[in-house]
Amino acid sequence: MTQTGLVALTGVNKHFGELHVLKDINLSIAKGEVVVVIGPSGSGKSTLCRAINRLETIDSGTIELDGQPLPSEGKTLATLRADVGMVFQSFNLFAHKTILQNVTLGPLKVRKMDPKKAEQRAMELLERVGVASQASKYPAQLSGGQQQRVAIARALAMDPKVILFDEPTSALDPEMIQEVLEVMIDLAKQQMTMVVVTHEMGFARSAANRVVFMADGEIVEQADPETFFTSPTSRRAQDFLGKIL
Ligand code: ADP
Ligand code: MG
Repeated sequence: MTQTGLVALTGVNKHFGELHVLKDINLSIAKGEVVVVIGPSGSGKSTLCRAINRLETIDSGTIELDGQPLPSEGKTLATLRADVGMVFQSFNLFAHKTILQNVTLGPLKVRKMDPKKAEQRAMELLERVGVASQASKYPAQLSGGQQQRVAIARALAMDPKVILFDEPTSALDPEMIQEVLEVMIDLAKQQMTMVVVTHEMGFARSAANRVVFMADGEIVEQADPETFFTSPTSRRAQDFLGKIL
């Protein structure tokens, strides 16, 4: 590894029409690092995640994964994108496929994995997130918390270099939030590189190496969780924390 980080954004800008949603973003994420991104609604957190795996184009700047620039399209993009896992607020499982099929699909199609091996690995991962007994069911038959754990297993099945989580617990009933956070805390302990957009400050405190605070498309402030939560330096971070804590 070089100093540049596993994921490195340099001078990234993004507009939606007149709206400047990412303003000169510089962010380097080290291998094994857990970065929690927080900030008010509309500050560009989702756009940042989507830009990292090119679900969203950028206007200027570069995004590198493991030292390789992410192209805006083409075959190299598909390969590199497979190294970036994504877990969304709304689970996004394939409704007409079983839980097991949801997890084996990527490895079979993208990684060309042997079907037996893909299935075996999928079952191990479903075991790890605590939903192995649901393998033959369909997503709608599972609770939200279970579906989100399947989504995490599905991301892991691709052996990603990094996983991006965009408010993974925001759509869950309160009693299911913890079971998903526990899986994420476990991943963090195992040195998975993670970018996590969340309002769960308990998770940030216990699992994050770094908190990045965004407002109005800018990274306003970043620090280790202890420092950030006890002594935020910017007025905007102080206001934000005052509202949510
Ligand atoms: P956050 O995730 O922090 O709430 P987003 O990244 O979703 O913020 O959005 C940042 C800003 O960009 C918001 O003002 C939002 O309305 C706008 N935006 C997001 N996606 C689009 C889009 N596809 N087209 C136009 N505006 C968008
Ligand atoms: Mg968002």
